[in-house]
Amino acid sequence: RIGTAALAVQVVGSNWPKPHYTLLVTGLCRFQILQLLKEKPYPVAEVQQLDRLEQFTNGHKSEEELGELSEQFYKYAVQLVEMLDMSVPAVAKLRRLLDNLPREALPDILTSIIRTTNQEKLQILDAVRLEERFKMTIPLLVRQIEGLKLLQKTRKSKQDDDKRVVAIRPNRRITHGSITEDEEEEEDHDDVVMLEKKIRTSSMSEQALKVCLKEIKRLKKMPQSMPEYALTRNYLELMVELPWNKSTKDRLEIRAARIVLDNDHYAMEKLKKRVLEYLAVRQLKNNLKGPILCFVGPPGVGKTSVGRSIAKTLGREFHRIALGGVCDQSDIRGHRRTYVGSMPGRIINGLKTVGVNNPVFLLDEVDKLAKSLQGDPAAALLEVLDPEQNHSFTDHYLNVAFDLSQVLFIATANTTATIPPALLDRMEVIQVPGYTQEEKIEIAHRHLIPKQLELHGLTPQQIQIPQVTTLGIITRYTREAGVRALDRKLGAICRAVAVKVAEGQHKEAKPDRAEVGEGEDCKEHITEDAKPESISDTADLPLPPEMPILIDFHALKDILGPPMYDMEVSERLSQPGVAVGLAWTPLGGEIMFVEASRMDGDGQLTLTGQLGDIMKESAHLAISWLRSNAKRYRLTNASGSFDLLDNTDIHLHFPAGAVTKDGPSAGVTIVTCLASLFSGRLVCSDVAMTGEITLRGLVLPVGGIKDKVLAAHRAGLKRIIIPQRNEKDLEEIAAHVRQDLTFVLAACLDEVLNAAFDGGFAVKASLEHFNSKL
Ligand code: ADP
Repeated sequence: RIGTAALAVQVVGSNWPKPHYTLLVTGLCRFQILQLLKEKPYPVAEVQQLDRLEQFTNGHKSEEELGELSEQFYKYAVQLVEMLDMSVPAVAKLRRLLDNLPREALPDILTSIIRTTNQEKLQILDAVRLEERFKMTIPLLVRQIEGLKLLQKTRKSKQDDDKRVVAIRPNRRITHGSITEDEEEEEDHDDVVMLEKKIRTSSMSEQALKVCLKEIKRLKKMPQSMPEYALTRNYLELMVELPWNKSTKDRLEIRAARIVLDNDHYAMEKLKKRVLEYLAVRQLKNNLKGPILCFVGPPGVGKTSVGRSIAKTLGREFHRIALGGVCDQSDIRGHRRTYVGSMPGRIINGLKTVGVNNPVFLLDEVDKLAKSLQGDPAAALLEVLDPEQNHSFTDHYLNVAFDLSQVLFIATANTTATIPPALLDRMEVIQVPGYTQEEKIEIAHRHLIPKQLELHGLTPQQIQIPQVTTLGIITRYTREAGVRALDRKLGAICRAVAVKVAEGQHKEAKPDRAEVGEGEDCKEHITEDAKPESISDTADLPLPPEMPILIDFHALKDILGPPMYDMEVSERLSQPGVAVGLAWTPLGGEIMFVEASRMDGDGQLTLTGQLGDIMKESAHLAISWLRSNAKRYRLTNASGSFDLLDNTDIHLHFPAGAVTKDGPSAGVTIVTCLASLFSGRLVCSDVAMTGEITLRGLVLPVGGIKDKVLAAHRAGLKRIIIPQRNEKDLEEIAAHVRQDLTFVLAACLDEVLNAAFDGGFAVKASLEHFNSKL
């Protein structure tokens, strides 16, 4: 219950990078707590002063009383100080202090200067009687003197250093109020020594070692309260942690790799084939100076997960670096250490995370890199990906080269259009198209459902999802090229079933037909895929009678709500002036309705639906071509004139107005839609089309045929009109999809119109044969 009263002289510190404060106090006197008045928010107590202040001024009395003791103490103190280097100003000052200060103050001051443990210091503070204090401090002084003698004897050469250690201490003599500080300081000192040891034993490059040793030298001289202290320490710790020479051993065996890839992923044959080729070359030729693979395709088609499988087959660590929205090159290359809050880039950070220098890095979404004032991150990536340069990649933060040549980079993107050309040039693009319905069903049953069951703690004995239900989810609740939404919906179903199972409702309660899939009505929803035991055989199983819970369409509606997408194609094509086009988006293919209407006016063309410039031009082209061919096709406006825009306004609309659309491939659709409007005939309800047009009526090839065809197939369309020169693209489409569809290869617009309308589109004069010269 004894404390020291002190006067706070100065408070310095900062909250960054971690809160660190230094309190400078002047000790005044000892006191004793008589009564604690309150503890919060800070303690308040009634105290009694123990060593009187007058004692210091009126020193003669005590000197007489303790004469001998204090004289002895003084001698030791002088002996100690004289062993130090008097040329250091602090030591000279201390020597003067010994003479000037009252003897009573000396034990306190000297105890704070010499090497003592906190325990010993506290004991001195606790010693209220002066005599006791002298007696306790003398052995400590003697110990220090002996220690110094020994040191001077054994380490003559390092004498100066030791003096400095002791000599520096007088400056801090008044800080002894804070008890933990010394401990912390000693700990930190030990830490720095440890850090140095780690640096020396780590396997970093010569250049890095040189830099680190220089930094640690600086660190030793730096006071801890300096913000730079923490910065330098963080830097050195990172340098030690980096895997300079640590790598995992590749265990590459093509046969095993094939099995892993096949087990993890259904379909995607082309991609798997290319990946295996890549790995085979790696096996034969043990270096990585090949192109960087870049998987391009809609979201949720398994690009990331193939990357993960590659790491698995190689037995390497896997790390994903998301690049979407990164617009600052320091994100890749780090900040210079001069900046506040500087840190290394994502590449170096990733290496630190995985702890080896040969991981698989998946650069996710390279197409979503952005540019900004902070520089172009793509340019920084170029250096990372270039095998000629990346053995000496220099992160701004590290400021020394790090060898990235052992890292296997794989990139993913949704589209190549927005990847900077220089970056694209370094990569080998592998297209990953969307899945067909059949593939999705297989993926769901082989991979997604088992995964979701495991995630939700369910077993196949508790829940059964027949294939027809999966098809229902795919067609009515999702519209996507990949399987991500499907995965989420399956997750929702599993959650709902988990509740039922956990509630144990099955025990006695009446079976709820909608949820449980029991009863007469349900049977008609079960197809041949559904296992019959789900209804009847379960009675023989030890499970409760309603298990497994069968998910039928009713259950689906209960869990997921009413269907989100309907097969709307034929409905919407029930009047003239509507046609179905096929569009390509980074999310996969889409079907797109084009609507047209006409009204009285003065020949204006209105376009709505957020169209880009190219699409607007297509619309003008289409109108011009139809106007010039109006007579040939007997197209008239409302008043029967062949001048289609005479007293007529036309409005063309592309629904889903919030999505910006651009690209030339809607040309044929616009022509068909307008032809339907002016002729008053309906476009066949099962036809979709794509193709660019020219003013002379030729149909030019377009891109993304595979995705577009898959979208049409998903939407249940049967006939697809594509440009003749796109015929080669059909080879990429799976045979069973091709079987379901009829393809019309059109070289000119007449062929398109003939195919789009039932019974062809009448042409007055005989067709001259077009031959594309483009
Ligand atoms: P992406 O990176 O292309 O956006 P992901 O790799 O994240 O897509 O895939 C989403 C999910 O779909 C993952 O859980 C993955 O396992 C699954 N998946 C996608 N394609 C397949 C496939 N062919 N076989 C098995 N699972 C697949």
